[in-house]
Amino acid sequence: KMCGVNIPLHACEHFYALTEYSEEIPKNLPILRNPDAHIYVKEDAGKLLIGAFEKKAKPWGMDGIPESFEFDSLPNDLDHFGPVLIEAMERLPILNDIGIRTYFNGPESFTPDDRYYLGKVPYKDNIYVSTGFNSIGVQSAGGVGKVMAEWIANGKSAIDLWDVDVARVLDFQDDTEYLRERSSETLGLLYSVHWPFYQFETSRNKIQSPLYKTLESEGACFGEAAGWERANWYAKNDQKREYEYSYG
Ligand SMILES: Cc1cc2nc3c(=O)[nH]c(=O)nc-3n(C[C@H](O)[C@H](O)[C@H](O)COP(=O)(O)OP(=O)(O)OC[C@H]3O[C@@H](n4cnc5c(N)ncnc54)[C@H](O)[C@@H]3O)c2cc1C
Repeated sequence: KMCGVNIPLHACEHFYALTEYSEEIPKNLPILRNPDAHIYVKEDAGKLLIGAFEKKAKPWGMDGIPESFEFDSLPNDLDHFGPVLIEAMERLPILNDIGIRTYFNGPESFTPDDRYYLGKVPYKDNIYVSTGFNSIGVQSAGGVGKVMAEWIANGKSAIDLWDVDVARVLDFQDDTEYLRERSSETLGLLYSVHWPFYQFETSRNKIQSPLYKTLESEGACFGEAAGWERANWYAKNDQKREYEYSYG
């Protein structure tokens, strides 16, 4: 919270490892992303950098983040990062032959819907926000800088940015437990298929209408809309009340 503005964010630990230098690593390697294995791999000065967007992330900072904490690192956790590294070794056999020089773990902030917060804060004069970059802040910086400059100079964005507009923040999201649980899911969603109609699995049932039980007894499969559990569709007979995501 700053200037009376609540920005719902939670930190998660983000892990990467850097190998030893090897002549076998070409300088012009493209970045490899393997969403099934939850890894990205990039060449870094003759070494390979292997980063993780694991399915179940490790939230951080539940006891508060010290004022002095700035661009610091956190202890490695091989119990957490190890399974992702093993997947990486299966995909890239060279990792079985060269050692790991550095393990790095640093916190990054995540929003409850995996989208950044940009733009003018509603009901406040001249407070603009550009935050919640969900681990893609460096790659997003150029575009975000451009649209924020336009937004501030002209009072509106030159392009439609409703999905990242800070105006979508809701009061019920000012809830540390909600944010902690949700952030354990959102980090991994970066490397998941972005299904239309995807329903979050964590931090559900925050707001139910008085009709919730009635709708449930009628077979409702609920989805979340602005924190409310909403009956999105009704199961027939033995149909499972679950979203099944597919290409079909
Ligand atoms: C390990 C790791 C690897 C990453 N790798 C990538 C990557 O490969 N590609 C990518 O796109 N992104 C990556 N990211 C994410 C990226 O670093 C962030 O998304 C980005 O730095 C966020 O930028 P920011 O300006 O919002 O916040 P920050 O970079 O955190 O900057 C915030 C600034 O505000 C300052 N500040 C804080 N409080 C105050 C205050 N009260 N008054 C004044 N100043 C204050 C801080 O000192 C800091 O300088 C990575 C993150 C981590 C942790």
